[in-house]
Amino acid sequence: MAFNVAIDGPAGAGKSTIAKAVAAKKGYVYVDTGAMYRAMALYFLRSNISKDDEAKISSVVDDIVVSIKYEAGSQHVILNGEDVTGLIRTEEVGNMASATSVYSAVRTKLVALQQELAKTTDVIMDGRDIGTVVLPNANVKVFLTASVECRAKRRFDELQAKGENPDFDKIAKDIEERDYRDSHREISPLKQAEDAILVDSSNMTIDEVVGTILDLCK
Ligand code: C5P
Repeated sequence: MAFNVAIDGPAGAGKSTIAKAVAAKKGYVYVDTGAMYRAMALYFLRSNISKDDEAKISSVVDDIVVSIKYEAGSQHVILNGEDVTGLIRTEEVGNMASATSVYSAVRTKLVALQQELAKTTDVIMDGRDIGTVVLPNANVKVFLTASVECRAKRRFDELQAKGENPDFDKIAKDIEERDYRDSHREISPLKQAEDAILVDSSNMTIDEVVGTILDLCK
């Protein structure tokens, strides 16, 4: 049996930073499921499909092959044979991913891929529905959160460090909207699994959060 760690939480809570650090320490494979929703979103954007057109989206899902591969330990997302890892981190793709991840055709396809990965491999997987839907029997489940203000500040600093000129209020508003959409959708909404441990990282350092999760994995 593979060892599975599930990390769920809202956008910007630091899931990927934390999961990558735990993966490196424990030798688990880190699986970023948001990247898979983003790759699908990129396909819809490139095809000029409206985020509201569920019928069209459902009809093209079978034309999309999303897979992941690992290079030097880091995850690369492959969309129909093309490595799109460097193209999916934009706000546009993130918002499209959030809007289209509400559709069952999209979720069914990606959940199956995620479950397949976790069956044979020790993974730490992050997302919104990992502890509730994808890996309900995960060995460790964490719900990682932080205040909206704190998450917006982290994102603001990240963009500023990249030389951009971000608007704090707009970032905070986008985060609130995405939280609302992710936690109010009909299928697999973002919510804490009953048996997940709540970790609020607002006033914690990265090392403290990583340490907390490593303790849970013992
Ligand atoms: O985590 P990330 O911001 O990359 O995810 C992009 C979007 O994909 C999220 O806003 C969410 O709507 C969706 N998602 C999801 N289920 C997951 C991971 C991501 O619905 N397991």
